[in-house]
Amino acid sequence: MDCKPSFLCLWERHLAANNGALWYDNRGKMPLPRENHKLNLFEYTYPELVTELDRRYGKGAFHAAAIYRGFYQEMNLNLAGIPAITASRNFAWQVSRDLVADSGQVVLEKEQDGVLKFVTRLDDGLEIESVILTMERHQTVCISSQVGCRMGCRFCETGKNGLVRNLEVAEIVGQVYAARMRFGPDLRNVVFMGMGEPFDNYDKVLKAIDVINDQRGLDIALRRITVSTAGLAEGIRKFGATGPPLIKLAISLNAPNDRLRSELMPINRSLPLDKLKTLLRAYPLKKKYYFLFAYAQIPGVNDRPEHAAQLAHYLEQLPSKVNLIPFNPGPNSSYRAPSEEESERFRDLLIARRVNIQQRATRGRDLMAACGQLGSTAYPR
Ligand code: SF4
Repeated sequence: MDCKPSFLCLWERHLAANNGALWYDNRGKMPLPRENHKLNLFEYTYPELVTELDRRYGKGAFHAAAIYRGFYQEMNLNLAGIPAITASRNFAWQVSRDLVADSGQVVLEKEQDGVLKFVTRLDDGLEIESVILTMERHQTVCISSQVGCRMGCRFCETGKNGLVRNLEVAEIVGQVYAARMRFGPDLRNVVFMGMGEPFDNYDKVLKAIDVINDQRGLDIALRRITVSTAGLAEGIRKFGATGPPLIKLAISLNAPNDRLRSELMPINRSLPLDKLKTLLRAYPLKKKYYFLFAYAQIPGVNDRPEHAAQLAHYLEQLPSKVNLIPFNPGPNSSYRAPSEEESERFRDLLIARRVNIQQRATRGRDLMAACGQLGSTAYPR
């Protein structure tokens, strides 16, 4: 490079010699790629953070634990100011220069009936939705794992636009963090029932679970996390074999026979009900655990007496609970919500068949925050 010896010139020579790298790790051996000089905390499990702090700054578990605790438990966004960091002025400077917590920006929140829906705008302008439900003694956050969804369930608003992209780990963890910021430790339950099919973004979802479960951080117990799938065979198999054993598995069922389920949920064509049942019977369910089957009652479609009988028959030999949800229509839905009488009638049919059910009053319908209503508008608004 031919230039006068100015600061700028030296800088350019440095970049040219190091392939565009701006930053070095602490030993000065490995130039970090230019785009990687920022360390997005939401992306790192605790062991990964230990490794990264060592690689960059020659720090280790002590500082990683302090950062995890300060950031996730004390919700302290000025990490350079926490005592374990300020002890070294140079490290404090590096922390304030490099560490970021980037998971998008909450741009909208609406609350009604103890339901709070919030919209996060991601760095590329796409938007995702999450919902916080207030129960008697705690809060549950329902989070998204994808922008859109490729499963194409006919009753679901998210599925209407197809899959746009998978969420990054930071974008998944960020939803739980935002909910914790708002409600503190009472926010105890996390359900992957928002936008997207979690098993279609398997690795990122599993890594996000590692982050939110870590006791040094958000400390959400595994038994308080539920992952819901429409029925991706490979995901169910893998989750049973290698996933964290205490997490609850929910299945979005919605129909008790193949003809109807294939019509409502195209995934049923690749994994029909008998195969799904075989898979679930082989699943290593923990003692006292059961499968949670979500069943959105669509009046006149899946709530006839024969459907109750078929559902009861299907659930035989499966430890199960049915989460009976009244269907929540979106703006252009071809189905309607059941009336109270219709809900009661179908519930009684199931109880008569000894189906173990839970039925909750639907909340947040006006916010388009009820089950099946998320992502009902175009993703970039
Ligand atoms: Fe996807 Fe779930 Fe909607 Fe089906 S119900 S399209 S799996 S988000």
